[in-house]
Amino acid sequence: KMFNEIQDLKGNIRVYCRIRPFLPGQTEKQTIIELIGEDGELVIANPSKQGKEAHRLFKFNKILGPASTQAEVFSDVQPLVRSVLDGYNVCIFAYGQTGSGKTYTMSGPYTATKENWGVNYRALNDLFDISQSRRSFIMYEIGVQIVEIYNEQVRDLLSSDAVPDASMQPVKSTSDVLELMDIGLRNRAVGATALNERSSRSHSVVTIHVGGRDLKTGVILHGNLHLVDLAGSERVDRSEVTGDRLKEAQHINKSLSALGDVIFALSKKNPHVPYRNSKLTQVLQSSLGGQAKTVMFVQINPDVSSYSESLSTLKFAERVS
Ligand code: ADP
Ligand code: MG
Repeated sequence: KMFNEIQDLKGNIRVYCRIRPFLPGQTEKQTIIELIGEDGELVIANPSKQGKEAHRLFKFNKILGPASTQAEVFSDVQPLVRSVLDGYNVCIFAYGQTGSGKTYTMSGPYTATKENWGVNYRALNDLFDISQSRRSFIMYEIGVQIVEIYNEQVRDLLSSDAVPDASMQPVKSTSDVLELMDIGLRNRAVGATALNERSSRSHSVVTIHVGGRDLKTGVILHGNLHLVDLAGSERVDRSEVTGDRLKEAQHINKSLSALGDVIFALSKKNPHVPYRNSKLTQVLQSSLGGQAKTVMFVQINPDVSSYSESLSTLKFAERVS
């Protein structure tokens, strides 16, 4: 049944737009959001233009407005997450400028409680629960890897050992889920200072591997879920940065456009998909294309001061949907 449900979902790439609320300390709450339609339409307004010219329409599979809860967001991806238990490969990622809510969507706020857990925790926990309870005729094993891609280099966030391959940790309980996610988050923050917040300039990739063996038929299946909190997409003014910052900016630019090119090629069903152009697309290759399903959360900060970044985020999404 699950198989058919997943087959029925139109296309392999779904693009959801999530608009974050204004934050408590923000005083000037001037929004660029003009309209959120029932069928995924979003109209934004350019604050420096007047009349018809000021408005622009974008279309998504779904819009998650400022009041959307973490539980609602997860319910929109839950069928895809569960399809991993049937051997599908799935990739869910969050794209947007720094401060637009990528980490909130994928992990939750810094001190997340069960109510505001992000997609990562919910997905891993859900897969763990279902694999234990509802499918007693299939023996499942679940393992997790967490890596960070920074300047085209992959770093293991679950182990400090310098090994060529990222370590895979088995998940045997809900507390394992929490512990692994926390180790990943803590290791990602290592070396970060307030001024030099590295997490916004690296991609974090949580990979959940699911292996199952049908006890009646002996059939073995394997699926994986990639959960990606991308580096901030904001344009860095090349005239203002040099050295390490310039190098970082170039690597981010390169990998985000490589990701855009891969998804664009897939959405157009091009025979050639350029996976080799960045570390990010190489790492995600198994869950992009073929039978794999992809969900992109396009994150928007509604504030007028972010208008031009939001516009470029929406244009990125428009190209791939
Ligand atoms: P990013 O990872 O894109 O840089 P964050 O996820 O860190 O952005 O979000 C920036 C700030 O906005 C954080 O303080 C976060 O807790 C808050 N925030 C983001 N999205 C939401 C949301 N949907 N509801 C409430 N607060 C949010
Ligand atoms: Mg973040």
